[in-house]
Order: sequence, then C-alpha cells, then structure tokens
Amino acid sequence: MTDLRLATISTGAISHNIKTLRTLVAPAQVMAVVKANGYGHGATASARAALTGGASWLGVADLTEAFALRAAGIDAPLLAWLHQPGAAFSEAVRAKIDLGVNSSGQLAEVAAASGVACVHLKVDTGLHRNGAPISDWPQFFEDAMAHELAGRIRVRGIWSHLANAGAENDAKQIKAFTAAVAMAEAVGLRPELRHLAASEGAIKHPSARFNLVRVGISSYGLAPADDVDVQALGLIPAMTLSAPVIAVRRASAGDGVSYGFDFRCTTDTNLALVPLGYGDGVPRHASNRGPVTINGVRGQVAGRVAMDQIVVDMGDAPVAVGDRAVLFGDSSADPIVPSADDWAAACETINYEIVTRIGQRVVRRYT
Ligand code: PLP
Repeated sequence: MTDLRLATISTGAISHNIKTLRTLVAPAQVMAVVKANGYGHGATASARAALTGGASWLGVADLTEAFALRAAGIDAPLLAWLHQPGAAFSEAVRAKIDLGVNSSGQLAEVAAASGVACVHLKVDTGLHRNGAPISDWPQFFEDAMAHELAGRIRVRGIWSHLANAGAENDAKQIKAFTAAVAMAEAVGLRPELRHLAASEGAIKHPSARFNLVRVGISSYGLAPADDVDVQALGLIPAMTLSAPVIAVRRASAGDGVSYGFDFRCTTDTNLALVPLGYGDGVPRHASNRGPVTINGVRGQVAGRVAMDQIVVDMGDAPVAVGDRAVLFGDSSADPIVPSADDWAAACETINYEIVTRIGQRVVRRYT
C-alpha cells in the first residue's frame, strides 16, 4: 500500500552532505545539528547518517531531544544547550551528554549535579539571545575555573552563535569570540573545542570555523541564506514531500475552489485533490501559491490550504487518481520538482521552516 502522506528522506544525501561540509571546513570538525526532529527529517536517522558521513559531534537544543538519541542507542558525543532551571543535569551527566552553559548561575547548578559535567561555556558575542554577556565574562570564566579545580565540571568547549547579520557584524563577532577564548585561557581554562559558526558562517567565513562548526540546514542539503549556492557546493536536498492524488475533477471557468472561494477558475481546468494540509505542516500561507508537480507538470495550489488537503490546479495536464503529487524535493536532479526554497518563497518564510514543520502524520521513509 502506498503511504497517504510521505516524506522520503535520503540518508545517503545527509551522509554525503556532511562529508562534503567536512572537507570544506577541515581541519575543523563537524557537529551535526539534529534538533527539532532533525529539522523534520527524523532525529535518529539523521544523526546516524551524519555520523556515517563523518560528523564527530551531534547537537540538539534540549535534554529531551538528547535523551531520545541516547535511548535510540546513539552514543556519539552530544551537546544540548537550552535548559530551564532544574533541568535533569544529573541524568545528562550519566548519559554522557555535554551541556551548553550560559551563566554563572547555570554553572553552579550544573556543578551541583551528581558526577562530573562536561560543559561548553557559551558567550554572547552579539546575538543577544543566550550566553554570558561580555560584562560577565571575567566572573563566568573564573567561576568555571573554580568548579573545574574543585573537580565538579570539565570545561570541554567554549562557544557562541553568529547573528548572520552581514560580513561586518560577523567579523565583529569572530573578533569578540577570539577575545573570549583568550580571556578564558588567561584564567587557566583549556577548552579543547571552540565553536562559533553554524551553516552560513561555516560556509562563508573560514576564520569563523575555529576547530568545530555546528551545521544544521546545510547537512539536509538546503541553503542557509539566499546568497549561498548549495548546489555549487555539491550538497543534495535530502527530503521529498509527496502524496498520491486521491480525487480529480474537471472544473469550469468561474467555479470557486476550497473554503471561501478565494480561488475562481479562469478557464476550464483539471483539479487534483492531494491529502496534505496544514495539519501536516503545509503552511496555510501557501494558499493560491504553493507549487506542486504531478506527472512532470507544475501546477499550483488552488484556493485555501485546508487541515488535511490541498487542491492543485493542473490546467489541461492529464491527471488521474493515484498519480504522485510532489510538493518539494531535489530540484537539482529534476528542475520541474519544486524545491523547499520555492515553497519558502511562496510562503514568505525560510526553507528551515518548510522542512521542520512537516508533521507527525507524514510517514518518513528512508532510502
Ligand atoms: N547552532 C545553534 C546554537 C543553533 O541554534 C542552530 C540552529 O538554529 C545551529 C547551530 C545550526 O544552524 P544552521 O541550521 O543554520 O546550520
């Protein structure tokens, strides 16, 4: 039986992308970021594929994600960085999960956990989101040193995150991060890992790579920014979203389609019903905009995206029940197939959101 809603994910593409990125950033190592269910691709499968491709580290946002990877049998080096007070730090230490730590208060909490926590000290170099602000750096590093000397923590890394706010700002953040590393070393800390760049910084700025980069979107074969040509870098989109056509009708000029009749046929046309909707993560903003390919012909979402279904206007192209409708996939292999970027443009969002929000009802099949 064919799947009603299907995301086909090429683990080979993810392995290939990591390998390609690894070559690009060498001698820096690669951390594969598999948070948010591997950007919709499945965290465990993405993690395994990334490790096969040569990732040395895995990165997730929170401990729930980290524990899920451990429960799935993945024992690779793993960093989690977004914690609430009272988070399960002792369990994390037991599970050999490294902790991103953002403040002296959080350091104290982690140091009080049972066992010796491996931490990566996060400094804010300008993003103003998380990490110790510059005014706190001296105290933050001294506190870290004191906890390390007391045998309560091991400082394995120091890190920050780029705002990707243009080359000038990136350069400022790289400089600030370099200063933070020097300050940490001046108090006696010897963090073996220094990491600042995610995909965009890693690809654009060799000086942002330090000795580890944290790559998410590029490992799934998608561009981190409009001015990054992932195809030229040899990266391959890993996810294809598709569903079978489950009903077809011929509509007449003037007919309204879907809720509210936001779409009216301008000519007689073939309408294909496809069982993917906002309940599956297809943005409602794709109403009257989203591109869909059926039998090698590009159509477009006609009318509003509903919870479970969309109607695709195929014009006079022949379409039958059971034909496969492809919303997005590897457009570098077949340009008639829309890309996640095409969907991002149609929905006025970013490719990250298009793939990450693909819902649980969509079956993931790995190739
Ligand atoms: N590092 C951190 C701290 C992140 O939050 C993210 C994702 O948002 C990444 C790395 C990976 O970013 P990208 O997907 O742009 O490579």
